[in-house]
Amino acid sequence: MANSVLVERVVVTRGGLVFRRSTRCAALVEGQRKARWRGDEVGDPENVPIDRVLYDRAPCINCFPDYAGPGAKLCWVLQSGVWHKGLLKRWRGRNSVGLWEADVVYAADHTQRTLVLDERFLRPRDPNEQTST
Ligand SMILES: [Zn+2]
Repeated sequence: MANSVLVERVVVTRGGLVFRRSTRCAALVEGQRKARWRGDEVGDPENVPIDRVLYDRAPCINCFPDYAGPGAKLCWVLQSGVWHKGLLKRWRGRNSVGLWEADVVYAADHTQRTLVLDERFLRPRDPNEQTST
């Protein structure tokens, strides 16, 4: 087992990029609802040992907000005045006004979002922190 924050079996869907804690994941339910609405074929979620997917897929940030994975760091992400639990994937360097920028992932409204943000919108986060202070 790679990390005590994870579980032994996880849920994946065909063609997906992440693994999830359970089929009750709000992001999974919402994603499948949207896919059906678009008329896409929606496969049943599959329960697999985590070792099979740990290195091919990223953890769903809704399900595993405290798992950073290799090279990533836990962080808080400020969007629309609210601090969300996020992951800092990597620093990109300084931008044109001298601020550090990073590739960031965070969850909001049951959707996982990836974006580039500068240091003003980021704060370090400890695994058990529930809110940003
Ligand atoms: Zn999830």
